[in-house]
This record gives sequence, C-alpha cells and structure tokens, in this order.
Amino acid sequence: MGSQEVSTVDWQGKHVTVAGLGVSGIPAARALHERGALVTVVNDGDDERARAQAAELEALGITVRLGDGATLPPSTELVVTAPGWQPDKPLFLAAAEAGVDIWGDVELAWRLRGDNGRKAAPWLAVTGTNGKTTTVRMLASILEAAGLRTAAVGNIGVSLLDAVLGEQEYDVLAVELSSYQLHWAPSLRAHSAAVLNLAPDHLDWHGSMEAYAADKGRVYEGNTVACVYNAADPATEELVREADVEEGCRAIGFTLGAPGPSQLGVVDGILVDRAFVKNRQKQAQELAEVSDVNPPAPHNIANALAAAALARAFGVEPAAVRDGLRNFRPDAHRIEHVADIGEVAYVDDSKATNTHATEASLAAYDSIVWIAGGLAKGATFDELVTGAAKRLRGVVLMGADRALIHEALTRHAPEVPVVDLDRTDTGAMSEAVEHAARLARPGDTVLLAPACASMDMFTNYNKRGEAFADAVRARAETSA
Ligand code: ADP
Repeated sequence: MGSQEVSTVDWQGKHVTVAGLGVSGIPAARALHERGALVTVVNDGDDERARAQAAELEALGITVRLGDGATLPPSTELVVTAPGWQPDKPLFLAAAEAGVDIWGDVELAWRLRGDNGRKAAPWLAVTGTNGKTTTVRMLASILEAAGLRTAAVGNIGVSLLDAVLGEQEYDVLAVELSSYQLHWAPSLRAHSAAVLNLAPDHLDWHGSMEAYAADKGRVYEGNTVACVYNAADPATEELVREADVEEGCRAIGFTLGAPGPSQLGVVDGILVDRAFVKNRQKQAQELAEVSDVNPPAPHNIANALAAAALARAFGVEPAAVRDGLRNFRPDAHRIEHVADIGEVAYVDDSKATNTHATEASLAAYDSIVWIAGGLAKGATFDELVTGAAKRLRGVVLMGADRALIHEALTRHAPEVPVVDLDRTDTGAMSEAVEHAARLARPGDTVLLAPACASMDMFTNYNKRGEAFADAVRARAETSA
C-alpha cells in the first residue's frame, strides 16, 4: 500500500484503552466507540470535572475508570494516549510488555482520515523548537491564497481528529506537530514536512536531546515530495539524512542568505526559490519581498521561507506565496508592536518562553531595553547574554529565576545597567515598564522577551503579554 493511501482498521469489538480524559481523549473515545470499538477510558484524576466528563461518556456506553491511569485493563488490544503523557508511565510499560500498540491523537487522526467517506487530504507538517505556530499559519494563508481548501490544525489548538472527521472537506492540511505528538505517531506519512530548528526543550519528558531530536525527525519519515530543513541548523539536515523517505522525495533547505540549488533564500531583499524551478543550477524564481513578511524579523523570514517551501512542494504558484504572506497576521504576543511612546517602540514577545526564542527576538533589534525573567525550566543564560550584550541599553528583571539572568549579565555584560525587581507578583509588570521607559533612549526598542515560562507570576504567557501591553498603553495615555 502506498504511504499516502488510507488504511482501514476493523474496529468492531476491538478493546481500546484511551489514556487521559482531555481535549484529545474525549473525541478519541467517542470516535472509536462510534466505530464499534469497546472503549475504556483511564484517567489519573478523579475530580468533579472528570466525573462530569465520565458521566457523559458512560451514558454513551463507554467505560471510564477514574483515579487510576497506571494499570492497563487486561483485555486491551490498543492504547490511544493523550500526547502529553510521559512515555515511562507504568501503563505504557505494561502495554509494551504485552505487545500492545500505543497511538497518540495524531496517529489516530492519521489512521481514521478518510474513513467517513470524505477525501483524505494530504498533510504538510511543521515541527521545530520555535516558530511552529507562526509557520503553520503562514502556510495556511499561502494555501488559501492559492484557492485551496485548507486549515491550520494540530498542536495549534485545533484538533486533528475533528479536522479529519468533520463535515468540511479539505484539499490539504497545514499541520503543527509537537515532539510529544510525533513520539506517538509511528505510521504518520506527511506529503512534505519541515523541522524549523532544534534547541534543547522538554528534555525532562524525552529523556535526552538525542531522543527529542529523534522524535522531531519522525516528521520526515515517509515524506513523498520534500523534507524541508534549516540550512543554518545542521541538526535539522542531519534528521533528513537519517529519514526513510519515498523515492524521489527531495531535501530542500531554507537560508537567510543567497540560496544554493535546492534551497529557498534571500537575495537583495527578495525571497527566492531555487528548488522548485526547472533549472535550479541556473534559475531562481522570485516569490515575495522581505517587506511582505509580517513582521520582517530575521527568524520570521526563516519561518516564511519554510512555509513557502512546503507550499511550493505542494505545487503552489509564486504569486500565491506573496499574497499569502501579505495577508498573514501574526498571533498575539509574538513580536507584537504595542505602541510607540516618544521615539521608543514597545514590543510584546511574551511567547518567547525559552532562550532560543529570545535569542531570535533580541537579534531583531539594534538597541534594546530588555524585560526578562520568570521560570527558567533548567535553562542557562550565558550564551544568550553574550550574543546580545552589545545591543542592550539596559535590562529589567523580574520573576522567580531572575537571579540566573542577572548572574549571566554580571559575567558577560557588566557595563549594562540592570534593574532587578525583587517581585514575582502580577503588578510587577507596570513597574518594569516604568523602569524600562526610563532606561530607553530615542530609537530604542523596549522588548518583553522573557526567555522563561510565565507561571510563577501569571496564568500563562498570554496574561503576561496583556499585563505588559496594558502597562504600555497606560503610559502612552499619560504621556499623550
Ligand atoms: P511555537 O509554536 O513553536 O511555540 P511560535 O510561532 O508560537 O512558535 O513562536 C514562539 C516564539 O518563538 C516567538 O515568540 C518568537 O520569539 C520565537 N520564534 C518564532 N520563530 C522562530 C524561529 N524560526 N527561530 C527562533 N525563534 C523563533
């Protein structure tokens, strides 16, 4: 069977254990039950919410076991798990011992696609440590501009299972995949896929950098047309080399410099394609201008090139790449320009929750007052600070692990003034903005790019970004 064909499983009477009552577990349990499987849902928690959800499923005839997600029901023939469940859980060890397959939500969606009689749309998949959501949205925007029926789905917050089993028929899906999802998706075969970059993240879950990289690399397995890699990040190219792909599938690089053959890149402010052209030794095709990318920060241009490569692999014309990029609007809290006060720009990149993202963010501006701090998740800051030292006008620190950043600044940028707010309460943000405004000179950018998670001070990165934007707007009003 060709890798893109739809596989059919006879679900009638099959004993399936669904691990986790959650955003992916509930639709999975329902879909399997509707197909005749004998479904048992197991869940660690046993709170009021779980009981209400369990009651709904039980009313349909699904068995739910609350308060014990560790024991494998003896008759289990297949486990379907929520992506976040750690691979060393006793449930999985028991399944492995019994020779029972374990599928994640993505694997299930891949196996069920097309079994409702609708067209099984090919997948263009994106993974990487940073930039996934942005790239997938750019890709969907380009595919739409090409007149294709598409949606941005997956780790982006739109369930893949809903997309493949829903009423709407698609020509192609733009799919964001996390390393967790890829870990549990052994038979997924995308039409084409991109790994944007690889930096240490989630190592507690995967166990090691090698295991993390290997899970990311699964996105290339069985690709039919293109494996897209980042020429500036050799680890991504290495994953392409290791992947087992369909015959004729090509390795396509993207670079912020001039592209070689089989690459997309940038020449004189123009995004160009030297991969999907007739004569790639001699020819290059103009796709869009750098100024069509919103915002045109270097890492975002890289995201645009990756999206363009996947779209071109799918046969999209250059004009649609340009139109799609022009139509694209970034999600909130990703290098979001909040206001100019005096001649100082205020930018919210609250989504920069790790050092790799913050490095990209800091590289996008010449002179910066940097607001940072939060939960470091085991990260070190020496490299980040060394790379940015020359462009830092000043730094304002807050949050639980701010001392780690402060120490790195003392070591590598002792001349940069630092305001260390001894605060981890939500109100610290407006004080941070005040200090930042005082440090800034005309032409500078005040940049919230925390390099840390937000949960020590805020519910999530959205709330952190909103607190920053509120403080900036309040300041803009008083200085107007
Ligand atoms: P993800 O879905 O992978 O978390 P997002 O598109 O939401 O990625 O971007 C998250 C953060 O990562 C952004 O706020 C930005 O600071 C940073 N970022 C985006 N693209 C890149 C990239 N290509 N390389 C490095 N950092 C990036």
